[in-house]
Amino acid sequence: MAGKSDKKSAAGWRFDNSYARLPDALFARAVPVPVAQPGLAVLNENLAAEMGLYAAALRETGTEVFAGSTVPAGADPIAQAYAGHQFGHFTNLGDGRAILLGEHLTPAGARFDVQLKGSGQTPYSRRGDGRAALGPMLREYVISEAMHALGIPTTRSLAVATTGEQIAREEMLPGAVLTRVAASHIRVGTFEYANAIGDRATLEALTRYTLERHYPESVGVENPALALFEGVLERQAKLVAQWVCVGFVHGVMNTDNMALSGETIDYGPCAFIDTYDPATVFSSIDRGGRYAYGNQPNIAHWNLARLAEALLPLIDEEKDKAVAAAEETLGKFPERFRSHYTAGLRAKLGLFSEEDGDLELAKEFLDCLKGAEADFTGAFRSLVRAAETSELQDALSFGGTPLRAWQAKWMARLERQQRSRAKVVAAMSAANPVVIPRNHRVEEALAAAVAGDLSVMHRLLDALARPYEATSANEAYRDGPLPGSGPYRTFCGT
Ligand code: AMP
Ligand code: MG
Repeated sequence: MAGKSDKKSAAGWRFDNSYARLPDALFARAVPVPVAQPGLAVLNENLAAEMGLYAAALRETGTEVFAGSTVPAGADPIAQAYAGHQFGHFTNLGDGRAILLGEHLTPAGARFDVQLKGSGQTPYSRRGDGRAALGPMLREYVISEAMHALGIPTTRSLAVATTGEQIAREEMLPGAVLTRVAASHIRVGTFEYANAIGDRATLEALTRYTLERHYPESVGVENPALALFEGVLERQAKLVAQWVCVGFVHGVMNTDNMALSGETIDYGPCAFIDTYDPATVFSSIDRGGRYAYGNQPNIAHWNLARLAEALLPLIDEEKDKAVAAAEETLGKFPERFRSHYTAGLRAKLGLFSEEDGDLELAKEFLDCLKGAEADFTGAFRSLVRAAETSELQDALSFGGTPLRAWQAKWMARLERQQRSRAKVVAAMSAANPVVIPRNHRVEEALAAAVAGDLSVMHRLLDALARPYEATSANEAYRDGPLPGSGPYRTFCGT
């Protein structure tokens, strides 16, 4: 049954549906499946305001839209087709439990995908029920909004609606629908799909569309496919460097979960590290550590190779030339990542100028943290405090081992740049969060929410809203888990 149509748009929806005007192979028309009892678990009023939507009207009439029971006026809902390499293996996928309502145009003219996730079956559902559980949808809401507050490009979360239905996973769970807002949902896997169907016109149309939407500066260049590839490579190099600098582990960096816009997308088994260790894996299904914290740049590089393969037919008519050009660009990734990562670490250490040994200096510090099993976020905050006092007798110490030699080197490095200590402290404060979504805090909030108490999650959201400031709201949320809490695990049964 198709959903009702919401005629009046007091909420401020202004839809355009440019993706639905692309070649037919790229999507299937599909409407959200109405649910038993729509309810509103959480609405992101700040994001609504940024989008030119009216929170009061959304609270009044939006619940049915967020639950998928009403399609807002102007929307032309579709499920997007895509493929992807999952843990290294190629698969045909598509939106199996998500529906793109369309693109909302903000009063300022920005274009955002508005997607319902968990909105019922689509032509791409395979054997899935098309549904999502409340806990994982709130998890995506909390962590994506935390990423945004950290200043890292990400899809956003406008609302989570409850459905009044139970869904069958390992146990019965309350169902929910997340309203996700994104620059777009075009993935590496979308290009893999367009290439795999072997229709050049479709691949060309998708390339043109993606350039116009995300890399308008490259429209009209001689080799659009290569320009697109370079643009995506640069944004991914920066994005993954930003993840690593705050200790984020995406957890399931399949090519269908990598967006061409350069936004972080698909919050499944993701989590933030507490103690620093490049081998950290949270996902229960990532047994080989493919998506481990420290392996993320390698995987981004691997995924970009898959994007390059998909674009080969457009890069050059002659296969050899296409491969050579793609390889040349792909080969830039390690240096581009290293450059962004070094810049991120310099900021974390309060370094404005550039010296050759900066990356090594940072790595020595990270090695100390690893050896001491020190808390990553907390250790960098103690560096900020050390920069404030600037006296070596206040030796930094992790796991009982003082860091005198390293600290002296770092202090000497700080002295070699012409910046006041106040400027150094300000820069470090802006690069080292006081608070991140600690796993034990996220779990606590979600457990309470699923049991019907949303107040714990709202306090957590408040604490995460201004992560680079020590606020009264985040005071109780800064510390890692108590020692001996055991390793944290995330599960993919979303
Ligand atoms: P994800 O793990 O969320 O990135 O999803 C991988 C693929 O599985 C995507 O094509 C999803 O649409 C699909 N999928 C995940 N869960 C479901 C579900 N409950 N029903 C149908 N398709 C699903
Ligand atoms: Mg996905």
